[in-house]
Amino acid sequence: MSNPLNKHSIERYSRQIVLKDIGALGQKKILNAKVLIVGAGGLGCPVAEFLSRAGVGTIGIIDHDKISLSNLHRQSLYNTNDIGKFKVQIAKDKIKKINPNTKIKTYKMRLNKKNFIKIIKDYNYIVDGSDNFSTKFLLNDFCLRFKKTLITGAISKFDGHVFTFDFKNKKIPCLRCFFQEDQISDDLLNCEAEGVLGTVAGIVGTIQANEVLKKVLNIGQNLDGHILIMDLLNLNFRKVKLKKRKFCFCK
Ligand SMILES: [Zn+2]
Repeated sequence: MSNPLNKHSIERYSRQIVLKDIGALGQKKILNAKVLIVGAGGLGCPVAEFLSRAGVGTIGIIDHDKISLSNLHRQSLYNTNDIGKFKVQIAKDKIKKINPNTKIKTYKMRLNKKNFIKIIKDYNYIVDGSDNFSTKFLLNDFCLRFKKTLITGAISKFDGHVFTFDFKNKKIPCLRCFFQEDQISDDLLNCEAEGVLGTVAGIVGTIQANEVLKKVLNIGQNLDGHILIMDLLNLNFRKVKLKKRKFCFCK
């Protein structure tokens, strides 16, 4: 294993190593995990922060955008001085300060079929923090093809959704089982047009990070084949089981 558990890291992670479900063995699994985060925005920021604090050894971040003033109410790795700079660069700098042991790879690009095929192979877990359905479908299709674990998040207004797809398990449904690409509009996820409360991004991103750690550790109940629907205005949380669609391409 590439990341030994030395005295310093035992101290750094002591409050989670002490957990019965984690221990030194679980911490080693976290240190050896490779997670790719797509989108360094409202969801990607808390995902990157908490995974690096937990000790995830390698974190990849894909984003093509620069930080703007209207990002700051929800994108928790950035501050006023960062406006106009590339998100991946600032995210990398901040995470290095949080945990210098985290290996960070950044990809300053828009994701497409061609570039993604080269990137995805280096990672076991893919976290979708994108804000559009074309990226979500692309991630779904590639994670299915390469049998990766995909943790998808979506936010709008006061609502959040989290899906987990562990494509090593052939029986679980995929994103296309629930949404038909031609029937769904990106306006649903458009923070600019629809608005979103900053805390909603923090909550949903933190739940995604939590699901990644559970998957790495293979503990607890996961969301495979389910969608977690959160109405954070009225504090209603629902976990809904979803069925595989008969003629979906994931069959
Ligand atoms: Zn499907």
